[in-house]
Amino acid sequence: MKKKTVAFSRQSTNLFFHILTRCNLRCAHCYINRDQHGSNTLSMDTIRDWLGIFSSKAKDTNLILLGGEPTLHPNLASVIGICGSMGFKSITIDTNGFLFHNILDNITPNQIDFFSFSLDGVSKGINDSIRGDGSFDAVMSGIRRAVKKGFSCSMIYTVSEKNIHEVPKLPELVKDLGISRFFIQVVGLRGESENTGARHQVSKLIWQDTIPKTAEQIAEQGIIVTYPKVFLSGEETFECAANVADNYFIFPNGRVYQCPLCEDFPFHSYEIINNKLIPRPRINETDFFSLQIPEGCVMNKLIQPGNLSYDDNGLPRYKIACCMLKEELHP
Ligand code: SF4
Ligand code: SF4
Repeated sequence: MKKKTVAFSRQSTNLFFHILTRCNLRCAHCYINRDQHGSNTLSMDTIRDWLGIFSSKAKDTNLILLGGEPTLHPNLASVIGICGSMGFKSITIDTNGFLFHNILDNITPNQIDFFSFSLDGVSKGINDSIRGDGSFDAVMSGIRRAVKKGFSCSMIYTVSEKNIHEVPKLPELVKDLGISRFFIQVVGLRGESENTGARHQVSKLIWQDTIPKTAEQIAEQGIIVTYPKVFLSGEETFECAANVADNYFIFPNGRVYQCPLCEDFPFHSYEIINNKLIPRPRINETDFFSLQIPEGCVMNKLIQPGNLSYDDNGLPRYKIACCMLKEELHP
């Protein structure tokens, strides 16, 4: 098994494109903030035009289509066709598993690289207490149907205090499910979680005791596992992805962020106006990216300082890594 930290790079672009914010679920930790990102569903023409902004580097761009729930978009199949003709390096659809508009029948496995399914509990009780009644059955059935039709599938598990105790049971759950990638995320302190009390990240000790071990057990089943590094020791170098990588988080009201932790605020770096990516006047999120602090990520310290810890001299015991810094395990 090979473990590596995925280096940030400007050679490759990641485009996280929220084509709508509407969703059939109301997950407790949903990162969508409708006050900030509106309730638009982008038309197919607008999606084509906005993707066109990035078309010159499409072959080096991983495109992730998100919502809300992207399969609620009535033209998703046609959108996938457009994305394919533009030649993106990879195309992923993130879904809660309900797979609306018979999407599995309206696209073919060779049109996308992955369906990525979100599940937040190994038991129906925990998952549905976070994601809503019926969501466990829907996502498990969605994965099985997608795998049967030949689609490559991955799973995303967002870890919080509410579901960390079920993490060790994940290897058993994914056994023989047919997924080829597994992503672990940390619950983000943004969007809905502000109102639902779901923003409880786990401590460094519990994270390090649980996540790497479970990740290895999942990888032993031939599945590539990716999980955030979260904590950096004193010797490890901190880097802000916004300074050294090329990530865009696009919302249907035209806001474009470089840092997901900024999404609850009108600090976006760019705005799409008349199908052009226009840098926003300062102050915006870019003013934070160059700040150097001993705690690592500046936005983390501003909006979720509860995950920091200090010694008797007031020095941080560790740094918080960029939320986009990942460890990857290859079986
Ligand atoms: S987290 Fe995803 S599935 Fe859940 S409510 Fe938000 S957009 Fe919908
Ligand atoms: S999470 Fe922190 S380190 Fe990463 S892009 Fe945002 S501000 Fe930079």
